[in-house]
Amino acid sequence: MVAPDKMKIKRELLEMLLVASKESHPNEMVALLAGKKNVAEELVVLPFESGTTSAIIHTEMLPLGMRIVGTFHSHPSPHPVPSAADLQMFSRFGRFHIIVAYPYDEDSWKCYDRYGNEVEVEIVD
Ligand SMILES: [Zn+2]
Repeated sequence: MVAPDKMKIKRELLEMLLVASKESHPNEMVALLAGKKNVAEELVVLPFESGTTSAIIHTEMLPLGMRIVGTFHSHPSPHPVPSAADLQMFSRFGRFHIIVAYPYDEDSWKCYDRYGNEVEVEIVD
């Protein structure tokens, strides 16, 4: 089997995710990631309903022609571990699923594949 291409995220995007998570605290922030096959490049913010334990994204508002490569959401707790509801969301969109946990810094995020397995992501400029 051929090893899958390494997943990458733009540094600018990662910084945006950390700031957006901070600003939403103590509620969850949820958004989609757009980009190329293995590179998450852009944040796609759609209307969503968030609480302290869950969030629903209104994907009927998705602009046409956007290539969604994954999801991003924050956890107001210090545990970036996907819940059952998270795994259900992961299975619907792309390959990258980033969870940023409190305190929303460079070390408090993780990326998962659609099955909830942790994956390594390279930060690129
Ligand atoms: Zn979650």
